Amino acid sequence: MDLGLKDKVILITGGTKGIGGAISKAVARENAIPVFIGRGEASGNKMLETLKASGKKARFIQANLNEEGESKRIVEEVLQVFGKIDALVNNAGANDSIGLEAGNPKKFANSVFNNLNHYYEMAHYCLPALKESKGNILNISSKVALVGQGGTSGYAASKGAQLALTREWAAELLPYNIRVNAILPAEVMTPLYKSWLDSFDDPEQKLKNITQNIPLEQRMTSDTEIADLAAFILSEKSGHTTAQWFSPDGGYVHLDRSLT
Ligand code: NAP
Repeated sequence: MDLGLKDKVILITGGTKGIGGAISKAVARENAIPVFIGRGEASGNKMLETLKASGKKARFIQANLNEEGESKRIVEEVLQVFGKIDALVNNAGANDSIGLEAGNPKKFANSVFNNLNHYYEMAHYCLPALKESKGNILNISSKVALVGQGGTSGYAASKGAQLALTREWAAELLPYNIRVNAILPAEVMTPLYKSWLDSFDDPEQKLKNITQNIPLEQRMTSDTEIADLAAFILSEKSGHTTAQWFSPDGGYVHLDRSLT
């Protein structure tokens, strides 16, 4: 199926690796132009080389989204280079394990700032361009927004807020025909996930415990399965889809885990 994304400029925060990286590749396969943001120069350039080697258009902007003024600078650069923005994927974030008992108010506030603030900033600065393109916004949230995990108050609060903002923005942006949706990954093997897994004494056993409770096929979701859904939501094939929360997770959140 041709998703009609050719030459669409799609901004992807954290699009240099992990889930965001897979989204960069998925939209590039559709001949869209991914513009991906990350702090690390090496991973950004690696993604750029991979895409350019297969003849795709792409751009890497190195930035730390938690630094003041960076979201505005990113949007200005994209508009200067491409003259338009067709979609924004808010994706960068990290489960930083700031718990209720083990954390403190300052760490909690920092975690919420780091995981949530740039979602608003990027949407705010992209909005004039999205109004012109009748574009759309896709927020990458997490199953943690719906299912308690324990020990990660800042991250859970941010991920829940991203779902609320998805519907809040979908309502506010109706007059501009801008769609806003969210994807809630559950268990996807990415650099972030691997480093979390490695924090356990027996990562292999921990992984087995997790996957055996995933209802469909007792396996992790691949980053490509998330990214292909993202590309479909971003495209005009999903032209009447807004305010939705998608859970491509093998039934992890919505099915009774005693089934496995
Ligand atoms: P990842 O492997 O760590 O990739 C994160 C990406 O974001 C990288 O490109 C990283 O590049 C970039 N990034 C992080 N902080 C940044 C910042 N302050 N400024 C600019 N770029 C930044 O993570 P992932 O597992 O793919 O997670 C992506 C999203 O999915 C997150 O929102 C996460 O909460 C969500 N999620 C993931 C899972 C899962 O199973 N993996 C489950 C639920 C939700 P640099 O490090 O170079 O900056």
